[in-house]
Amino acid sequence: MKKIKKIAITGGKGGTGKSTVAILLANKLNKENKKIILCDCDVECPNDYLLIGQKLKKPIKNTYTEFPKLIKPKCKKCGICVKSCSSNAIFQAPGQYPIFIKKLCSGCGLCWNICPFKAIVPKKEKTGEIFINKVKKNYWLITGTAKTGLEETGPVVRETKKFALKFAQKIKADVILFDTAAGTHCPVINALLDVNFAYLVTEPTPLGAYDLCLILDLCQKLKVPTKIILNRANLGEKKNIEKIAKDYKIKIEQEIPFSKKIVKAYSKGQLLNFDF
Ligand code: SF4
Ligand code: SF4
Repeated sequence: MKKIKKIAITGGKGGTGKSTVAILLANKLNKENKKIILCDCDVECPNDYLLIGQKLKKPIKNTYTEFPKLIKPKCKKCGICVKSCSSNAIFQAPGQYPIFIKKLCSGCGLCWNICPFKAIVPKKEKTGEIFINKVKKNYWLITGTAKTGLEETGPVVRETKKFALKFAQKIKADVILFDTAAGTHCPVINALLDVNFAYLVTEPTPLGAYDLCLILDLCQKLKVPTKIILNRANLGEKKNIEKIAKDYKIKIEQEIPFSKKIVKAYSKGQLLNFDF
């Protein structure tokens, strides 16, 4: 089995330019004759396809999540499932049957495995779609999209990643880039699991610095090595980011200066190919 390099592009704060960096990195690797897949894991609002001038046509695959369903005649109202759900997605009033709160449920499966009376069964529901675009020779884009209104999108990211990794094996890709959502919640954790390293895209603002620490802590817990990419490096307080890099003993790999030309191009849905 071919060893594929798995790189995540993340950053904690929204609007720091993660997608821009992911696409520029994809372009760079493609120019170096690497066979690459860019996987957009920002499933609530994927936009890589727009930035590289693609359209999402027919999905290649649906994603499904299993949610718990109660078989009332089997339930003894013991409350074990309620206590074991770490997402607090099961509510039980005294003496009543448990109620599942779907928007909090991650579909982890613990409740139907732990119920001693087999009173919970999994019920599959469509939660998203996966699209694939061939961008150019040796360059594919895989996009995951979550069903509108879905609160817990981690499972859609998990399925999108699984599909992308299988496809990467099939085409013998060299590198797969995972462009994550902003934040440090379940969909981001799913995107970061098992990657070889992550670029953390940030900006020299107080919020950028704060969110950078959050994502650094998460990556440390997941044992994912990191490098910082500092966007709009010539605005704000660069020394705050430099201090964080020093404290966490990591490198600022790249600084991207603020440029009106870059912003204007971006507002038209284009990317300038500056050196990365
Ligand atoms: S663990 Fe099973 S039997 Fe107990 S309350 Fe939950 S569903 Fe009912
Ligand atoms: S599947 Fe997991 S998250 Fe959902 S209700 Fe059961 S234990 Fe809680």
